[in-house]
Amino acid sequence: MPSELSATALEDLRTLLRFDTTNPPGNEGPAAAFVAARLADAGLEPVTLESDGRPNVVARVAGDGSGGGPLLLAGHLDVVPVDRDQWDHDPFGAEIHDGYLFGRGAIDMKYMVVHCMTAISELARTGKRPTRDVIFAAVSDEEEGCRHGSRFLVEQHPDLVRADYMLGEFGGFSLDVKGVRYYPIQVAEKGACQFRLTATGAPGHGSVPHDDNALVKLAGAIHALGKTRLPMHRCRAVEAFLVAMAAAQAAPDRWVLPLLANPALAPLILDKLVADRGLAATLAANLSNTVSPTGATAGKKINVIPGQASALFDGRLLPGQTAASFLAEVRAVIGDGFEVEVINEFEGRENTQVAGDPLYEAICANVKRTDPSGVPIPYMITGFTDAQYFGRLGARCFGYAPVRYPVEDQIRFNTLVHGHNERIHVDGFRWGVDAFVDLVLGFVGVK
Ligand SMILES: [Zn+2]
Repeated sequence: MPSELSATALEDLRTLLRFDTTNPPGNEGPAAAFVAARLADAGLEPVTLESDGRPNVVARVAGDGSGGGPLLLAGHLDVVPVDRDQWDHDPFGAEIHDGYLFGRGAIDMKYMVVHCMTAISELARTGKRPTRDVIFAAVSDEEEGCRHGSRFLVEQHPDLVRADYMLGEFGGFSLDVKGVRYYPIQVAEKGACQFRLTATGAPGHGSVPHDDNALVKLAGAIHALGKTRLPMHRCRAVEAFLVAMAAAQAAPDRWVLPLLANPALAPLILDKLVADRGLAATLAANLSNTVSPTGATAGKKINVIPGQASALFDGRLLPGQTAASFLAEVRAVIGDGFEVEVINEFEGRENTQVAGDPLYEAICANVKRTDPSGVPIPYMITGFTDAQYFGRLGARCFGYAPVRYPVEDQIRFNTLVHGHNERIHVDGFRWGVDAFVDLVLGFVGVK
């Protein structure tokens, strides 16, 4: 039975969903004020730090330090834009239909903001001293690159958010695969190298085609990069994911899944054995650096052959890969003769040796306690999160925010992230709140 506490958490989530924090511009102020007020209700003394008018709420419960350095709970308040026409219900109405609470941010990631807020408030209400400090940061601006949120806190107020551990997105959502219910625990995330590629050619009159057309050269590069799978690289987190997932499956998946970690066999398996193409694409993004063409510009007049043409590419790097190693892979596909301008780059991150890590083990134990049939598995996300910045202060970062979806609804959590009709299962959310509070209070010795 979900607790009374989780009923209050549900109302808090509905309130948060009604604040339109679409980023850009974000406008997180009212949502942040609500979070600060709820923390104050629990006796906490939250501080609000602004970057260019964008608020970040930070609260702390002091511990005695016997368990180690602080545990940081982190969530972002902003959400991505909506395509209103595509929604069945008001994306900022927090309506409940057929057991689901609809709203932009329901899963990315206001529900976890509520998990964190509820856990630290509950901790404060016990009046007991935890074995380590617990910090909660509700930040702005994650969806546009973290500049006014986690990055601002890390660069301008590091003492407020420095921690041994961070718990944030993405993980903890139930993932049903062939009769097995997994709970992924995020232990790694990819880095990025986003760049502009420019081709130069000879300008000319559109009535006289020639073979030095910048647009044609660029089109060749776009096509080649869009169609080529970059080389596969072994990555510990991905191998651990494949092995753990396989161990709970029956044959032949039990034997085939781990073979994906072998760069010599993976292409064959992805192309011939994985019938679900969406799944194949997700698996492939876990095995190599990737690059997606995302925009192109060339030409101003219909009768002029342009002298230059450029395209934008979103490149993503496996942990351990660098922008230089990635761009060498790109050049091997497109050849020379292009100018490359890197717009954004950072490396991926990966927790080495998660088995035996106290927080990782506490999460696994929490899964077993709260859903005895559940199987915890480590995993990497192909995007990036606030952990990119909080991790720079030395925190070991994990993604875990439990939520359960009924298996019969066949909802893939990942497809709801940034998708239309984003929604969270009401009972699954309430179960998750209780599980998360149990995890946090247990980890810091207050139960
Ligand atoms: Zn998010």
